[in-house]
Amino acid sequence: MATKYSIPRGTYDILPDISYRRIYVEQMFYKIAATFNFKQIVTPIFERSDVFERSVGDTSDIVQKEMYRFTDKKGRKFALRPEGTASVVRSYVENNLGMAGGATRLCYSGPMFRYDRPQKGRYRQFYQYGVEYLGSDDPMVDAEIIALGHRYLTALGLKNFKLEINSIGSANCAKDYDAALVDYFTPHLDAMCRDCRQRIDKNPKRLLDCKVASCKAIAKDAPNMLEYLDDDCKTHFTAVQRYLAQMGIPFSVNPTIVRGLDYYNKTAFEFIDTNLGAQNTLIGGGRYNGLVAQFGGKDVPGIGFAGGFERLMLSMETEGCFFGEEPRPQIYFVALGNAAKVAAAGILYRLRSQGISAEYNVEKTSMKAQMKAADKSGAKGVLILGDDELKDNVVVLKWLETGKQKRIKIDNIAEELHPE
Ligand code: AMP
Repeated sequence: MATKYSIPRGTYDILPDISYRRIYVEQMFYKIAATFNFKQIVTPIFERSDVFERSVGDTSDIVQKEMYRFTDKKGRKFALRPEGTASVVRSYVENNLGMAGGATRLCYSGPMFRYDRPQKGRYRQFYQYGVEYLGSDDPMVDAEIIALGHRYLTALGLKNFKLEINSIGSANCAKDYDAALVDYFTPHLDAMCRDCRQRIDKNPKRLLDCKVASCKAIAKDAPNMLEYLDDDCKTHFTAVQRYLAQMGIPFSVNPTIVRGLDYYNKTAFEFIDTNLGAQNTLIGGGRYNGLVAQFGGKDVPGIGFAGGFERLMLSMETEGCFFGEEPRPQIYFVALGNAAKVAAAGILYRLRSQGISAEYNVEKTSMKAQMKAADKSGAKGVLILGDDELKDNVVVLKWLETGKQKRIKIDNIAEELHPE
């Protein structure tokens, strides 16, 4: 049916027949995060645009092309958040969350916005979950963050994914590596895309993850970052791998993972779905040791990851994973006649106050229509109230699966339904 209004391109409604699935995966995320002692943080969905420009980086696709920017009535520049880390770090610094010293473990979920070409697994408003660990550069923390991601995917029942890790070095080793990349790419620039030609001076590593086929072919033989790591980064990366091995988490090293955002250093990693098509990164993350200082805080190291619920749920569908139980009412109330309807209002309210989910349809009056609706609702039992029952202060409880029924006192309904 043609409607007068339609949803913006690249967005979608989560309709009520499947919203329980979203609730399931989101609750599972917080449950797993809690076992690693992460606490939820909620930040606004818009921030001053420089929160993202300076941290995510002005050569990134996100900042260059994809941010939804707007100016408010006083001319202040804002952006809908394209990702979560910058906001979390802004809040960490602004609220002095690291004041007590030690580690701050934060997790979040919510909508993110990027103006990109929509396709399967890529939206303009999408929903991410993520974690941030602020306060340690210890490689065991890197492994724990990765383990959290692994645990979450595993807890959802996913099997067809792989973990790839890399070290993209620190400012210290990046200098030599960037110079090597500039030397390597410069003779090929004519054959590369405009983005790559523009980025080579500011951020040559970005040429490694360009998605354009001709650029990819050239990037394939580029110098390998791992050969340029300084001693500190090398030791760190080796230790991360040792901890992962200790946890029994399989991984492979992929030196082409650079991540598209400026703030990363040292460990970078991705969980990749081995079935999904082009948009196959389930979770992406890495270390960002300079970011807190960049926001005006102390020099506090950090690491985190983010993943999209959409791709996660696509993968779960492909693998036939359990999505939680579809909610249905415990009982369906059938009221026959006006007096029964009035009494039903009170009974229903009391039942719901006792935690029993109950449905009643005010539009249906006949026994037949109400019983049909009860069947359709998926309820386990039906409570039937007519004039005769009302007189005796009872209802008929009928179990739909077995057809068994009995008269019970109105005051005892909750006990009958919850025998414990
Ligand atoms: P990023 O913040 O770009 O590192 O992305 C982290 C994860 O968020 C990706 O691996 C995806 O699962 C998800 N994601 C990123 N962009 C989108 C998008 N436009 N639509 C849906 N999911 C996305």
